[in-house]
Amino acid sequence: MARVMAKKSRKPPVAARVQAQSGRARSGSRDANVPKLLEAWFQTAARDLPWRRTRDGYRALVSELMLQQTQVSRVVEKFEPFIARFPTPAALAEASEDEVLAAWQGLGYYRRARLLHAAAKAVVARHDGEVPSDAEALRALPGVGRYTSGAVASIVFGARAPIVDGNVARVFQRLEAREGSASDAAVQAWAWERAEAFVAAARAPGVANEALMELGATVCTPAAPRCPACPLRAACRAHAEVRVDEIPAPKTRVARKDLVLVTACVRRADGAVLLEQRPRGGLWGGLWQPPTVESADGAELSPRAAAELLQLPSSVALQARGEEPFLTTHRAVRFMVFAAVLRGAATGLSTGLSNSLANSLANSLTTRGRVWVKPDELANYALSNAAKKVLARGG
Ligand code: SF4
Repeated sequence: MARVMAKKSRKPPVAARVQAQSGRARSGSRDANVPKLLEAWFQTAARDLPWRRTRDGYRALVSELMLQQTQVSRVVEKFEPFIARFPTPAALAEASEDEVLAAWQGLGYYRRARLLHAAAKAVVARHDGEVPSDAEALRALPGVGRYTSGAVASIVFGARAPIVDGNVARVFQRLEAREGSASDAAVQAWAWERAEAFVAAARAPGVANEALMELGATVCTPAAPRCPACPLRAACRAHAEVRVDEIPAPKTRVARKDLVLVTACVRRADGAVLLEQRPRGGLWGGLWQPPTVESADGAELSPRAAAELLQLPSSVALQARGEEPFLTTHRAVRFMVFAAVLRGAATGLSTGLSNSLANSLANSLTTRGRVWVKPDELANYALSNAAKKVLARGG
């Protein structure tokens, strides 16, 4: 039975956590040495990351969701501001979805922000606002799968719960020279078995799990692993057989679908930009973007044809600004970018519109849910990275 730590503790050193979490490890296991070596290595090798400074279920949950599909360096930048904005599950649960998405900007994959928001609501409704310590209760929260529940339950609460992510699967595969891609279902099932045996043999399950992830992220990396610096070198079959470069096999790439979008960056003379919100479901669901529409055939368009497609009046004098490519996991997106600035004649600039005409044209564009957003208000609107690139191209 796992020993459960107190819910919060300030900057616990790894050695103290090993002592606090130490429970009965399975003896005589072939895995007994590996967790021990990792626990010892982690005492000096652990990176100082913001979510490690205070062990708390909520901070761990937020950091784990942020770290799925986003680089650590980016999460380091965004983590504390997010926690400052929403310091408790209750504060996050009470926020609007738009507020949560705006605070998530820069982390990408906004579906995770919505799931975290839903998880916070569930924590308030089912657990009195405290993130549960039990892996099963954690796993019942929206967006929390077997990996995240195991990570939070073991790292924060010392539960003997296994974890497998890409880093962990790669380390196990190399340790045992297990062939195949880490994304293969058979390899995944095998890795979970290995993770269960690993955590069963650990003295301090949370420290061992965290050390295993750290090793995969910093030493046993996908390319150019640093075997000479690895605490598991003597136990590693791939290293002994000089097959580290072959294991794991590369992922089978899924072909991306092509998508061509026509988009217009329209600004007022005061710098405000015209934005619209995408439908809640699907690609970039609920995020804000310059007016954008899918092109049926991807054929080149004149500015006038683009304005028509985007349902902008012909008096908005669009100019072509070239193309902006953007890759998502499943799509190769090509934006055909157009731009216009609505200026009054008093500015002496090109369009020749009178001030009142420019103003009434600007006002007429706020149909179809489109809004003018001033530069100092932009941070309140969640924009995808693709929309930011398009805006940069559109000027
Ligand atoms: S010895 Fe090399 S391949 Fe083996 S676990 Fe360590 S870093 Fe990975």
